[in-house]
Amino acid sequence: MKYLIGNHKMNLSEKELKVYFKDLKKVAKNASNYVGVCVPFVYLPLANKMCKCSKIHYGVQNMHYEKQGAFTGEVSANMLKDYNCELVVLGHSERRNLFFETDEMVNKKVLCALENGLTPILCVGETLEQREQKQTNKVLKKQIVSALNGVKKEDLTKMFFAYEPVWAIGTGKSATCEIAKKAIVFIKQTILKLYGLTDENLVVLYGGSLNAKNVNEILSEPEIDGGLIGGASLKVQEFEKLINFKN
Ligand code: PEP
Repeated sequence: MKYLIGNHKMNLSEKELKVYFKDLKKVAKNASNYVGVCVPFVYLPLANKMCKCSKIHYGVQNMHYEKQGAFTGEVSANMLKDYNCELVVLGHSERRNLFFETDEMVNKKVLCALENGLTPILCVGETLEQREQKQTNKVLKKQIVSALNGVKKEDLTKMFFAYEPVWAIGTGKSATCEIAKKAIVFIKQTILKLYGLTDENLVVLYGGSLNAKNVNEILSEPEIDGGLIGGASLKVQEFEKLINFKN
């Protein structure tokens, strides 16, 4: 089984999302893979209502780590739980780069999500410049070690990880299967080493311009446990082709 999780970012209206969930429910019903969708905060109540009794897992794309207080514009884990939220994307490169999220903030968010029974999708990835300077592993290790500070061993399987090279996100230029595999193996080994484990069922997804054309090549690699999908998750007709991936 592979994990296929859509990240809608700031796209689709309520009207469009209603049709989307109606169609996606039919696709998910017959799917043998895990299907997830992360929507903007305002549509979480709609996701809660429409995905009930379906095979669609749903969530959001960010959250704050404090319980409550003077944090204008932010949303807490408790608020998400009011709508039975399951997934939360954390540390996405758009949050890190456009909204100045630091490794420390991502770490606090991961801890808060786990404490509240939410499933974090922790995103890590290097920029093109870092890759060209052969810094990829160093960057991935720093992001992972920092994000997992204080996370208990037994919680590692309660979260998803996503390797998302910044240069591949929204660019139409996906990583090759070889590049994605190498980074994902490195991520898995780094986590195992950090916890002194020899084996664990870690789920590490690939994200970055994954679409109907390249999905078979990339997901056929056993080390790649699934995909975090932006653009290609916005239309059910396309997302369906990824969801129906078969080995
Ligand atoms: C993402 O935003 O996580 C992502 C992978 O986007 P895209 O598929 O559009 O590159």
